[in-house]
Amino acid sequence: PSVREIMNTKVTCIKEEEEIKTAAKKLLRDETNHLPVINNEGKVVGIVTTYDISKAVVRENKQNIVADIMSKNVITTSPDEAVDIAAMKLERNNISALPVVDKEGKLAGLLSAIDLGKLFGRRW
Ligand code: SAM
Repeated sequence: PSVREIMNTKVTCIKEEEEIKTAAKKLLRDETNHLPVINNEGKVVGIVTTYDISKAVVRENKQNIVADIMSKNVITTSPDEAVDIAAMKLERNNISALPVVDKEGKLAGLLSAIDLGKLFGRRW
């Protein structure tokens, strides 16, 4: 199967100039751990997670906006990538979600470790 079959297409995302508090609110509201950060063209420029927000709280730095705390080297997948390749990316990088991007680098979905469970659920 390919990523397209199990990815989420309704993805909560955020812009890099938004406040960290806004990111925290979105994570809570939508019960998610990962927010892809997009620019005005819809291209993925980063990712911010509950982990990054916790780290910012502990550090008590003057970090106010998403750009200050997001990870910039985003590991992504594409709708046509095989799920086992995507699973390998998660495992090798010790992460639990990959933004799904189209050929132009625009956000098309999110694949999380939880979605991989759907593959097993199907069989029984
Ligand atoms: N295992 C946990 C997890 O999955 O989030 C914590 C460890 S992981 C190294 C946490 C860091 O990975 C965070 O700083 C987060 O921004 C980053 N991260 C999460 N998903 C990412 C992705 N697809 N590409 C790049 N960095 C990512």
